[in-house]
Amino acid sequence: MIELDGSQGEGGGQILRSALALAMVTQTPFRIRNIRAGRSKPGLLRQHLVAVQAAAEVCSARTSPLALGASELEFYPGRVRGGAYQWAIGSAGSAVLVLQTVLPALLFADAPSQLCISGGTHNGMAPPLEFLQQAFLPRLAEMGAQVQAHASRYGFYPAGGGVLHADIQPCSQLAPREWLEPGPRVQGWAEAICAALPLTIAERELETLRKGMNWQPQQLHARSLSQEEGPGNILLLTLQHANTTEVFSALGEKQLSSEQVAQKVLQDARRWCISQAAVSEYLADQLMLPLALAGGGAFSCDMVSAHSKTNAEVISRFLPVQFSFTPDDKRYLCQVFPA
Ligand code: ATP
Repeated sequence: MIELDGSQGEGGGQILRSALALAMVTQTPFRIRNIRAGRSKPGLLRQHLVAVQAAAEVCSARTSPLALGASELEFYPGRVRGGAYQWAIGSAGSAVLVLQTVLPALLFADAPSQLCISGGTHNGMAPPLEFLQQAFLPRLAEMGAQVQAHASRYGFYPAGGGVLHADIQPCSQLAPREWLEPGPRVQGWAEAICAALPLTIAERELETLRKGMNWQPQQLHARSLSQEEGPGNILLLTLQHANTTEVFSALGEKQLSSEQVAQKVLQDARRWCISQAAVSEYLADQLMLPLALAGGGAFSCDMVSAHSKTNAEVISRFLPVQFSFTPDDKRYLCQVFPA
């Protein structure tokens, strides 16, 4: 039984998600106290509760009684089974984060899986769908994992109501990988999406990006979704390089002008470009668990977040691996190696 303190490090939901994922893969029970104690609304929110329920269903786990707001959990995993699963978060809580919780175990399952998760696909606090599709899953594919994801309906914060689908093919193991240099830029584009909001919002965001990136109009795409998928607005800037792809995004908010939303995206994209790192702050923390399962690997990243450091500690409790973060000019090198 692994004992975890959910208030350690940044004290967020990742401690719980990584623990669930690794408990399933390693078939190790865990107990966590102080769940998300570092957050303003601590305990299990809908997204975390559904992540626990999903994990429990996938591996027929025995758990302590589950409830919204709970700050403790015991989780005893059983055998992982691939198959068709459906979960509803019932808020704009991230469907992508629920997927990432069960994905590692389902990659090593006895059969392919088809998941349908309703909730948020674009909530500003989690990987948006396009980041999953362009930045995360292609890196996983290079490690040998075949996963396809799409949304049949978008769900924005605060209403939610999106539907994420994922098809997962099991693989016998993940291969270690290194992403040290981004390689030359292949292409860059930006998409601004509006649902039940005027398209001029998207056009203003894109115009700010055009000036900031010195891009051509054909690199910019404004898209309207159906009324029922709104209200919502997201701006996504994708930089595809020879070795890696990054997606920078910001959610439109009532109190932010379109220009301010675009400036947030530009700032993150510029920081990454200047650093010459292969992956961004967010992709960095998301690649750590797959690399640890592969038993090794490395990447350069523009920033080492508290999220990444906390994740390293949790992962090392379940798997015999160590992480090192070394400054390297304007970036950091993260290495994963056997402990
Ligand atoms: P909570 O306790 O509220 O659940 P958390 O620890 O789960 O917090 P965060 O630290 O905000 O949440 O991050 C959740 C995950 O979402 C991280 O893996 C992070 O990389 C990812 N993420 C957040 N924002 C983005 C973004 N704009 N693009 C890609 N990934 C993102």
